[in-house]
Amino acid sequence: MAADHFDVIIVGGGPVGMALAICLNQRKVSTLLLEAQGLPEQVQDPRPLALSYGSHLILQKLGVWETLQQITFIKTIHISNRGHFGRTLLTSEEAGVPTLGYVVNYHDLYRSMHQLLLDHGVNYQTGAMVSRLAAGAKQAQIEYQQAEENKQATAKLLVLADGGRLAAQIESISYHTHEYQQWAVVANVETSIPQNGVAYERFTSDGPVALLPSGNGYALVWTVPSLSAKEILSLDDSTFLLHLQHHFGDRLGKFVSSGGRSGFPLALKHASPTTATRTVLVGNAAQTLHPVAGQGFNLGLRDAWELFNEINGLSSLSTQIGTSEMLKAYESKRRIDRDAGKIFTHSLAKIFTSDLPLIQTFSSLGLSVLDCLPPVKRFVARRMIFGVRG
Ligand SMILES: Cc1cc2nc3c(=O)[nH]c(=O)nc-3n(C[C@H](O)[C@H](O)[C@H](O)COP(=O)(O)OP(=O)(O)OC[C@H]3O[C@@H](n4cnc5c(N)ncnc54)[C@H](O)[C@@H]3O)c2cc1C
Repeated sequence: MAADHFDVIIVGGGPVGMALAICLNQRKVSTLLLEAQGLPEQVQDPRPLALSYGSHLILQKLGVWETLQQITFIKTIHISNRGHFGRTLLTSEEAGVPTLGYVVNYHDLYRSMHQLLLDHGVNYQTGAMVSRLAAGAKQAQIEYQQAEENKQATAKLLVLADGGRLAAQIESISYHTHEYQQWAVVANVETSIPQNGVAYERFTSDGPVALLPSGNGYALVWTVPSLSAKEILSLDDSTFLLHLQHHFGDRLGKFVSSGGRSGFPLALKHASPTTATRTVLVGNAAQTLHPVAGQGFNLGLRDAWELFNEINGLSSLSTQIGTSEMLKAYESKRRIDRDAGKIFTHSLAKIFTSDLPLIQTFSSLGLSVLDCLPPVKRFVARRMIFGVRG
């Protein structure tokens, strides 16, 4: 079986893998992108993505931004702790940016990027399931199945953007995993008080509830214990809305309608290291985070962008791409941002769900103190928006 050869093979055409393929195509790096599922008509993923202003700037450079169908602005973030005093407000003025972020739908982003890849003639194979990896000093090799045919390809650099399954084949990479015993229940909901650009993050003893402004209503990301997830997903709409009302409170008036619901089991997965011979992990394959504070894709997009910059900065593409020097440089540039994303989201997910009254009191106090310190709020907001470099 003859293998096709490329400079870069990207396994996984989720939003991070697709973003990298679009960047590399702009620099004319020979690239193969393989995606197991494929067509957007078959990928119905309803999760909302809160994008930072920094991600907006990257997606604009890639030509993706202007093709997105619906973008809702986040002007203010309201953070509170249910049953406790203390709340904080982050505003775009305080952060010194035109807007704190945007809400788009995963599926819309997927569809826009898919179309762009086709329009630009990128070597993009859908329905291509990669099953085996191997890497040597000079190149990496993969095997994949497409339309019941077995195929092979080789590249100087293999990028795993598959969400994290294939790295199990690489001995030198291990994952730190923490199961949260929680699910995220996702739905579009409408409230009697119309949305006005405020995103709500409300911490409760079960986990955070986020209501992100989306279109005329809100995209709900409700963290629930694993044991109640199936029950909540199967409730009829009016019972579901009553439960939500009870849990979130009356700040937005009444919850009046809900679209279809989906559930996602939540875990932290953090790869170490994120590079191996001729191989690099990006996006969820490198780190899968709790969705609290909407950091996962923003961080994954920065992985793709920094990797592209590393490749773009090479003086000789043919001899330097995928070398251990290049991979070391990339990994060390990403370390602090990745670690900060992990610590930030994991701490938020754990601290506010703690049963210890002292921790609850301190976290509520923290929200009140933060609210009185604009420079600290600006510091926190800019790191959420641009990553660790702020
Ligand atoms: C409920 C929820 C809400 C979220 N909200 C936010 C938010 O507001 N903001 C934010 O920044 N992030 C958010 N996230 C995180 C975000 O969804 C992920 O970080 C992001 O989707 C990661 O993209 P990815 O391309 O790395 O991986 P994925 O989206 O997982 O894509 C991986 C792709 O690889 C393909 N694949 C897998 N195995 C193979 C194989 N063997 N061969 C070929 N292809 C393969 C899959 O089909 C898939 O298309 C949220 C997550 C959840 C669960």
